[in-house]
Amino acid sequence: MLKINAIKTRRKTRSIRLGKLFIGSEYPIVLQSMTNTDTRDVEKTLAQIRELEEVGCEIVRLAVIDEDAAQAIKKIRLETKIPLVADIHFDYRLALTCLKNGIDGLRINPGNIGGIREIDTLVSAAKDLGVPIRIGVNSGSVEKDLLEKFGGPTPEAMVESAMRHVGLLENRNFDQIKLSLKSSSVLDTIIAYRLLAEKCDYPLHIGVTEAGPGYRGVVKSSVGLGILLSEGIGDTLRVSLTANPVEELPVAWELLRSLGLRQRGAELISCPTCGRTELGLIELANLVEKYINEQSQAFLSSDLQAFSIFSNMKIAVMGCVVNGPGEAKEADIGIACGRNKVHIFRKGKIFHVLRNEEIKNEIIIGLLKEETALCIK
Ligand code: SF4
Repeated sequence: MLKINAIKTRRKTRSIRLGKLFIGSEYPIVLQSMTNTDTRDVEKTLAQIRELEEVGCEIVRLAVIDEDAAQAIKKIRLETKIPLVADIHFDYRLALTCLKNGIDGLRINPGNIGGIREIDTLVSAAKDLGVPIRIGVNSGSVEKDLLEKFGGPTPEAMVESAMRHVGLLENRNFDQIKLSLKSSSVLDTIIAYRLLAEKCDYPLHIGVTEAGPGYRGVVKSSVGLGILLSEGIGDTLRVSLTANPVEELPVAWELLRSLGLRQRGAELISCPTCGRTELGLIELANLVEKYINEQSQAFLSSDLQAFSIFSNMKIAVMGCVVNGPGEAKEADIGIACGRNKVHIFRKGKIFHVLRNEEIKNEIIIGLLKEETALCIK
C-alpha cells in the first residue's frame, strides 16, 4: 500500500556549531527566543533567560545596542550555559566585544557593518573563535537597489539580499552561517524560505516576524512555520509574539509536537466542553497542563529517561460520559468526568473512581501524579 507522509524529509543542510549545540539537518530542530529586557541590566536579563530555559528555550538572542550591553555579555555568559546570540546592527566593534566576552553566535549582516577592513576584521575574529554568524534579512531591511529591482521587499528581493551577505562571508572562507528571512506576511515568508532553501545548504532559522499579540501571533506563526516545517524546511525556529517571550515557547513546542517532530512533556488531550460538561473542566484541564509543564521540567533536570517516557505519554481530560471514557481509555492516563463520578484510567483500565465530595481538583491531580509514576516505572 502506498504510504503517504504528512511531513517531508528534512532539507539536507551542512552543520554548524553554536556553543554546546549543533544545528542542521543531522540534529533536532532547536527552539529559540529573544529577551526583551535591557541587556545592560544583567540581573533582569539573567532572570528572563532562566524563565525561558524553564519553558524549553534552547538558544537565547539578546539585543546588543551599545558598548555597555556588549560588556554585560561577559557577566551574563558566566552565569548561564544556554547558547547566547548577540543581535547587533551596523557596529562591528560591538560584535568584536561580544566575541571577546564569550558570545556563542552573532546575528549581524556583514553588508551593513562597514567597509572591507571592518568585514575582514570581524569575520576573521569569528572564524578564529569558531563562532557562527546568522544573517537575518527582514522585509524592512532589504537594500534600496534590490527594492528598485524587484519593485519592493518581495521574497525574491529578500533572497537576493541574503545571498549577497552570504557572498561576503564565503569570499572570506567563512561557512559557519545560518540564514533567516522574515516578513510579517505569512505567504511572503513561506515563498522566501522555499526559494532560499533551493539556493544554498546552510541551516535556516525560521519565523514570521512582527506576527502580533495573542491569537494573531500564534495563528500567523503556526501557519507559516507549520507549512515550512511540513516541507522539511527549518533547523531553528522562533514563534515571535508581541508578549513576554516566555509565552512563545509553549506555542513553539506544541507546533513541533503537532507535526511529530519533537516533544517536551506529555500530550494533553482535553475536550472543548459543551452543554453536557459535568464539572469545572476548563479549570481542571488548566491544572493538568500546569502539572505537565512542572513535571517535564522536574524530569528534565533529574531523570532524562523518565523525561523521554513522559514526553511520549498522552493524558486525556474529558467532560462527560458520551466521549469521555472512550478517549480516556485510549490515553496513557485518562480522567473521565461524569455526573457526580470521575473515573481515572491507566492504559485503558479504571484504577480510581471518585464520587461526590471526593471530586476535588487537588485529589484528581494527586492521583494523576501517582499514575504518572506508575507509567514511568
Ligand atoms: Fe461535550 Fe462530552 Fe464532548 Fe466534552 S467530551 S465536549 S462534555 S460531549
